[in-house]
Amino acid sequence: MKSIAKKNENVKQNVLSGFLTHCVSVPMTPAYKARKNLEKDMRAALAKRQGFLLYFQPEIDVSTMQIVGWEALLRWHHPEKGMLSPDVFIPIAEESGLILPLGDLVVEQALFQIHAWMSLVSYPMTMAVNVSMKQFENKSFVKSVMKKLTHWHVPPALLELELTESLLMKNPKYTIDELQKLSKIGVHITIDDFGTGFSSFGSLIDLPIYKLKIDRSFIHRAPRSVKGMKVMEAMVKTGHLLGMKVVIEGAETAQDFKVLKDLDCDYSQGYYTGRPMDEATATEFLEKNIAMRALFFQGQLDLPFRS
Ligand code: C2E
Ligand code: MG
Ligand code: MG
Repeated sequence: MKSIAKKNENVKQNVLSGFLTHCVSVPMTPAYKARKNLEKDMRAALAKRQGFLLYFQPEIDVSTMQIVGWEALLRWHHPEKGMLSPDVFIPIAEESGLILPLGDLVVEQALFQIHAWMSLVSYPMTMAVNVSMKQFENKSFVKSVMKKLTHWHVPPALLELELTESLLMKNPKYTIDELQKLSKIGVHITIDDFGTGFSSFGSLIDLPIYKLKIDRSFIHRAPRSVKGMKVMEAMVKTGHLLGMKVVIEGAETAQDFKVLKDLDCDYSQGYYTGRPMDEATATEFLEKNIAMRALFFQGQLDLPFRS
């Protein structure tokens, strides 16, 4: 018996060392190396809290042209590579776990900004933050959001958390519980890039969703596709029937914007109504929007973007 056990142990050792040798000898591809370097740089930048900044894109009420909110979009000003888009570094941050401190930084900066803008507007203007799966799965996420809201004296209803359909479908029981906690204190939950994931209509019933953001791929094919238009119309109607607000992302032209109007969509977030901007430009944009609406109410101005 003893000798069989010993033999098995030897086999195990051999397999393990063979596997490890294989792993060690796998050549590092240039892409893998570049990823690892970026991860190292990200770790260093985060330790110094340097290089990460938020851009803000306005969300505009389609019928009044008022800025109803903003989406905080992360950028990384890399010391050598210049400004990097989130599509480049968010996947690395997610894979390495750095998304947790990075996500924390985003919530912090976004709340700081909306706190600063609160004095400029006399209506509830929201700030949306993208949340990745790893952040949401972190057990202390909800508590940490609540703590930051209190710290910055921001009413919870001014914060929107954007989650994707795939995240909402993962671990539904946990997701529902956590979302309920956030929703109960007034934080708004948005489904981002709606229509591109694998959510079922069931999730729209079970989850406390406040807003649907229809992915920009739909508006981009809309003018050429009758079916595309019908699907978009159905999504807007579904959202409204369920008492949700609906945004169509990605309107870039007057023609796109007219589609949003025709479909009775609530809000636009696209290049036509405002690109993502740095903080100073966004503040200026907000001040101009307030001034424009004041003139409109005095009857001195027609609303722009009217078709
Ligand atoms: P998203 O959340 O769907 O954000 C909207 C993206 O669409 C932004 O890209 C925005 O610049 C772009 N966009 C808006 N209007 C138009 C338009 O009219 N035409 C076109 N072609 N694009 C438009 P961005 O800033 O590059 O962000 C890409 C994605 O990166 C975001 O998509 C979001 O998923 C992710 N992301 C950004 N910031 C964060 C963050 O702080 N945390 C996490 N986890 N993800 C983030
Ligand atoms: Mg988003
Ligand atoms: Mg989106």
